[in-house]
Amino acid sequence: MSALSPEVPAGLARAAADAPTAARPDLLASTVSVIRSDSPLIRLRGVTKRYGTGQAALMALNCIDLDINAGEFVAIMGPSGSGKSTAMNILGCLDTPSDGQYLFRGTHVEALSRDQRARLRRRYLGFVFQGFNLLARTSAQENVELPLLYRGESASRRQAAAAAAKALQSVGLGGWEHHTPGELSGGQQQRVAIARAIVTEPAVVLADEPTGNLDTQRSQEIMELLRGLNVEHGITVLMVTHEPDMAAYARRVVRFIDGRIESDQPNPLLVPPRPLHAPAAQPRRS
Ligand code: ADP
Repeated sequence: MSALSPEVPAGLARAAADAPTAARPDLLASTVSVIRSDSPLIRLRGVTKRYGTGQAALMALNCIDLDINAGEFVAIMGPSGSGKSTAMNILGCLDTPSDGQYLFRGTHVEALSRDQRARLRRRYLGFVFQGFNLLARTSAQENVELPLLYRGESASRRQAAAAAAKALQSVGLGGWEHHTPGELSGGQQQRVAIARAIVTEPAVVLADEPTGNLDTQRSQEIMELLRGLNVEHGITVLMVTHEPDMAAYARRVVRFIDGRIESDQPNPLLVPPRPLHAPAAQPRRS
C-alpha cells in the first residue's frame, strides 16, 4: 500500500483552497517563530495511532520513539500493515497522533491547528510519490511552480517561474519545461516530481516508494538524485521502500513491525556513489 496517503493531491488542493490565509504573515510567523534549532529536526515520543475503540481498537502505531537529525537519509521498511504509512502521514504533518508528541525542530506539531500544520508542511516539507502525482495536462514548469503558488509567499509569478526552471535544471530537465507529463518518460516524470518537491527549498523530502514504478536504471538515477539532494544540499530524506536495493542508498534503516520499530540501524549496505547517467537529452526542437 502507498505509504503516504493519496491525500497529497487532496492536500495540494486543500493548500490551494487555503492559499489566501497562507499569505497572512501573522499566522505564518506564529507557526515559524516557535521553531528552535537546538533540537533534533524530528522527534517522536510515545507516538501512538489508534483506530477504533474498545475491543475493536487497532494500534497502527504503538508508542514510537524516533529522532531524526538534519541531514540524515533514512529508509523506512517493514511488511505491509506494519505502520509505515501511518508514520509517514504523521511525519508529513498530514495526520496527527492519538497520543504522544511529534516535535519538528522543537515545535509540538500535535498541538498545531490544521492550518498551521499545512503551513509548516508547505514551508519545510517536500513530497515525492510512487505514482509521481503530476497534473496531467499541465507543463513540467507549471507543475513545479505549484507549491510556490500555493505557499503564497512568492513575490511574483515570474519569480516562481524562475525558481521552477532552476529546479528542473537541477534534476537534469533543462529544456523540458514545456512538456506535459504524457510527453515524458516515467523517470523524467519522477524528476519533475522531485523538482516540485525541492522548489520550495524544504528541510525534509518525504519519498513514498519513489522508484516503485521505474525500471532498474531509472530507479538508480532517481536514487542518485535523492542522494545528491541529501549530500550536496543537506536535505533530510525520509523514504519508504520495499526494495533492499533502494534502501541501500540510505545511511540509516528503520524497520517497522506491528506498529512498533523493530530495528533502527546504520546501513551496512550503503551503495557507493556513482556518477549519474547522462542527464536526459535535450528535447528536439521543431
Ligand atoms: P503500512 O504502510 O506499513 O502498510 P499502515 O500504516 O497503512 O501500514 O497500517 C497500519 C495498520 O493500521 C494496518 O493494520 C491498517 O489496516 C491500519 N489502518 C491504517 N489506516 C487505517 C484507517 N484509516 N482505519 C483503520 N485502520 C487503519
